[in-house]
This record gives sequence, C-alpha cells and structure tokens, in this order.
Amino acid sequence: MSQDDIEKLPCFDFTAKEKGTGTGTSPPPDCAVCLENFRVGEKCRLLPSCNHSFHAECVDLWLLRTPICPICRAAADIMRSGSLHEEESSSLVKVG
Ligand SMILES: [Zn+2]
Ligand SMILES: [Zn+2]
Repeated sequence: MSQDDIEKLPCFDFTAKEKGTGTGTSPPPDCAVCLENFRVGEKCRLLPSCNHSFHAECVDLWLLRTPICPICRAAADIMRSGSLHEEESSSLVKVG
C-alpha cells in the first residue's frame, strides 16, 4: 500500500465523547498498533472497510508494510473495487 493510497483513507481528530449519563463504563478505544489510548486532538485514521480506527501515524506505518487492518485483517485499501483490464498491445518487430 502506497503513501498516496493511505492518505485517501479518512482521518479525524480524536475528541472525547463523554456523555456522563448511562450505566456501564466502557473503556476508551485505543490504538491496536501501539496499544496506547487515544488522546483528544490526536490525529486518527479510520479504515472504512471495517470502521476500526488507529493513530494516523501508527496505522500509516503499518499499512505501508501490511495493507490489512491490524485488528480484523480486513483489506484496508478501498481502491480495490472494480477491476481494470489494461489492453495489452504488444507489437513484436523482428529485424533480421
Ligand atoms: Zn497508536
Ligand atoms: Zn478492522
């Protein structure tokens, strides 16, 4: 996966969504790459194929090496929809 493809994935700034109401405390989501919690204002990137999110800087490096989601191994490249068939036109010229 190239840097250009990675930059086409949606990214966002993490914001704390603390409602205050509601029973049951769910732990904040953390980045499966570095296992650190998200902090407010940190740049995160979302994988549209599975809706998992990570630090942008973490998942960028990951995706450069491994174009799959670190959590569920879904294909991370959204540009793979559709198949392009390039017409091969090869002309062999024999000189002899
Ligand atoms: Zn991270
Ligand atoms: Zn995933």
